[in-house]
Amino acid sequence: MVAVAERAIEGQGTPEIDWLPWLAQQAMVEVDAERLVPPGHRAVVVAPHPDDEVLAVGGLLAQLGALQRPMLIVAATDGTASHPASILWPPHRLATERPLESRRAWQTLGLDIDRSTEVRRLGFDDGGLMRQRGPLARQVAALLRPRDVLFTTWRHDGHPDHEATGQACAAAAACTGARLIEVPVWAWHWAVPGDTRLPWGRALRLGLDAEAARAKREAVNAFTSQLESDPSTGAGPILRGTTVQRAQRPFEVFFP
Ligand SMILES: [Zn+2]
Repeated sequence: MVAVAERAIEGQGTPEIDWLPWLAQQAMVEVDAERLVPPGHRAVVVAPHPDDEVLAVGGLLAQLGALQRPMLIVAATDGTASHPASILWPPHRLATERPLESRRAWQTLGLDIDRSTEVRRLGFDDGGLMRQRGPLARQVAALLRPRDVLFTTWRHDGHPDHEATGQACAAAAACTGARLIEVPVWAWHWAVPGDTRLPWGRALRLGLDAEAARAKREAVNAFTSQLESDPSTGAGPILRGTTVQRAQRPFEVFFP
C-alpha cells in the first residue's frame, strides 16, 4: 500500500494495549449521538473504501440508527485496489463483493437501508482519489444540505485516499454549510500515544453503549475480503489483528 511517507502504514501498527491506557488518561470532550446529530439534522458519512464507514463511525451509526436519524452513506470507491495481482480477488470480484460486505455490515448495525439510510456509490478509482479530489468534492457538495453533519476520514490519516477524501469533504462542507467531523482510521496504526501529529486538543469522545459496541464488533466480520489472507499472492489480511481489535473499543474518537 502506498502511503504518505511521514505517516507510513507498515507492519501491525500500534496495538490497543498501548492505546487504551493512554486514551483513558485523556480528558476529551464527551459527546453523544443525540447531540452530535441533533433532531432535524442528517448524518452523511463519506467512506473512501467500503469498510471505512464501519471502522470510523460504526458505533455512531448503530446509535443513530436506533434514534432513527436520517443518514446518507457515500462510497467514494468500490475498493477494487485492495488485492493487487490477486487471482482470488481480482478487481471485478472486489467491485461486486466489497459493496455487498458493506451492506451486510450496515444491516448488522441495524440501519434501515434504502429507507431512513440512503446509499450512494460514486465509483471513483480506488487508489486515485488524490488526483480526483476536485470532482469528489463537487459530487459530495451536490449531495449535501446545510444542516447535515458530515463524517469522513481525517485529512492527515496517512492513506492517500483517506487524506484526499478528508480534503474533498472539507471543501464540500465549506461551500454548503454542513458541519464537518473528521475521523482517524489508519492514524491509529502509524501514530503512537501522545503523538503530536494528531489534534488531541479538539478531539471528541463518543462512548458506545453495549449494544452499539457489540453491533460494531459484529459488523466488522462482514468484511471477509479484508479479513482473510490471500493464498494467490501470499499477502496477509488487509485488516490486521490490531485493526480488528481497535474496532472493539467501547468508544470512538472524532476531530471536529
Ligand atoms: Zn480505507
